[in-house]
Amino acid sequence: MRAAVFHGDRRISIADVPPPEAACGEVVLRVARTALCGSDAKLWLRGAEHTPGHEIFGVVDRPGHALHGRRSLVYIPVHCGRCASCAAGDTHLCLAESTLVGWNRPGGYAERLSVPAQCLLPVPDDVPDDLAPLLLDTIGTSAHGIRMARPLVPAGDVLVTGAGPIGLGAIIALRHFGYERVWVSDPRESRVRFATELGATPHPVGELSRRFKLVVESSGSHAARNQGLEVVLPKGVVLLLGENDAPWTIEEKKPIRRKDFWMLRSFYFPKGDFADNVELLRRYRDEYARLVDAKFGIDAFPEAFARFAAGQLVKPLLAFD
Ligand SMILES: [Zn+2]
Ligand SMILES: [Zn+2]
Repeated sequence: MRAAVFHGDRRISIADVPPPEAACGEVVLRVARTALCGSDAKLWLRGAEHTPGHEIFGVVDRPGHALHGRRSLVYIPVHCGRCASCAAGDTHLCLAESTLVGWNRPGGYAERLSVPAQCLLPVPDDVPDDLAPLLLDTIGTSAHGIRMARPLVPAGDVLVTGAGPIGLGAIIALRHFGYERVWVSDPRESRVRFATELGATPHPVGELSRRFKLVVESSGSHAARNQGLEVVLPKGVVLLLGENDAPWTIEEKKPIRRKDFWMLRSFYFPKGDFADNVELLRRYRDEYARLVDAKFGIDAFPEAFARFAAGQLVKPLLAFD
């Protein structure tokens, strides 16, 4: 089968590799769509041990298995199903397993992959192939974060920093959850324009004069994080959805030190959210569909990934037909 190999130094090649065999408790999925994710850019720079790709939609290909032919997404956190986190429904926070599909085991930039059967999220028939991957990072991650913040800040002005797929997904979900006044900042003018078309109001990058009850930090930029800590109102929430593994320095200035506020980090989403996330996609289907702005086959993947990493595409899809 064909698979993308990330060599590092911005080099991707397409290789013929042996198809996966399903281990005990696993099924092979024939990949239909894998959405590109900004977090893969670090593998593009550093190289990857396994085939990347973690926003995966496909069809179960295991004749004789009860799930054969089932359209499914891949829920990337492998989880034990028995620990205290799993028992509480927090399958993304499993205490016994830390493997993520597409990171610590082969992912979806390939024609096929094997996944534990517990990682299949069956997709309803009315959800088209091209929109299904949005149910993972774009909708799942952003909506889970907002669900965590809601009991602490049920209303008030919101700032979204970073208008990538997570930030844009957050803007749609915020509206759904009743936050009426949402501002957005992003250094890229085209992204701000996109966000305003989804109902957000532009806010200058780094501007500190306006204050917010909720800051949804979706860029991973340390400057945006620090801005969030300053502009969040007392008893407000800074929700960290963006990721950045470089060391983060916080200068504990007066506007940060002299207030009560929450800094929330949320990661991915519990499996139990999935049905509600399907409802979100159904309800705001036209808005979410606008994020998917390109689709290409695996031969075009290396070049398309470079365009994506340069910020020219929002949520493109690798497609196998
Ligand atoms: Zn991702
Ligand atoms: Zn567990």
